[in-house]
Amino acid sequence: MSNFVNSKTVYGPVKSWRFGLSLGIDPIFETSTCSFNCVYCQLGHIQDITSLHKEYVPTQKILDDLKEKLDANTEIDVITYSGSGEPTLASNLSDIIDGIRTLAPTLPQYILTNATELHHQSVRDALVKLDKIIVKIDAADEELFSRVNRPASGITLSSVISGILELKKVYDGDIEIQSMFMPMNDKEFDEYAAILKKINPSAVQLNTPKRPYPLSWHRENRGNHEAIFDYEVRELKVISPERAKEIETRLTKATGLTILSVYR
Ligand code: SF4
Repeated sequence: MSNFVNSKTVYGPVKSWRFGLSLGIDPIFETSTCSFNCVYCQLGHIQDITSLHKEYVPTQKILDDLKEKLDANTEIDVITYSGSGEPTLASNLSDIIDGIRTLAPTLPQYILTNATELHHQSVRDALVKLDKIIVKIDAADEELFSRVNRPASGITLSSVISGILELKKVYDGDIEIQSMFMPMNDKEFDEYAAILKKINPSAVQLNTPKRPYPLSWHRENRGNHEAIFDYEVRELKVISPERAKEIETRLTKATGLTILSVYR
């Protein structure tokens, strides 16, 4: 067990530019664990880069932590699965979703996922119970995908896209794409627009890494939107508001999709 002050699997609510007051659920928790190791990750360098599915935190601990928040009458607009890594690696995700539905039936449940695990039937079966699924696409070709997302072995951009298309066959709710743009990946418009059109999401969130890259793992990084850090961080190269506007305009024209920019 690590020594962080924050020993809770439920954090926030954090103010999300898209979803309002979002209460974070962390089914990974103990160390940063993800099937990606994105160059911009707010958690810093991922400690365990893996595709291993297992129970990382007991379901009951998450439900107990949530109950504390609910009992305190915390104002919440939405529950969001995210936290210390990739939430779909948690083999008990389906049970957690059901438990939270029972405790808070009126709260919408969303997930932020890197979409690497959607080829697993068990993951799709869990995700179809959610109200919105936000998948990550940061690159338009395999080479850039390897450099930006630095995935666990065996994961490719092509496997991510085919997983999303598999999910779409069984999920009627909203699938949104979230893309992190930096100067290293903001140029391949045509290829990126083609991927967007293939997936045909209900919206595309155009983002840029406004939070710096921590040089060590801190559980507090999960929900720190205040940009206050008492540990070493490195600023990341972001795209400018003008560049974001240009990308938004070009993508809207090329795809006809709803493009939402963090700079709006
Ligand atoms: S997918 Fe999310 S948690 Fe995983 S490395 Fe990328 S930004 Fe971090």
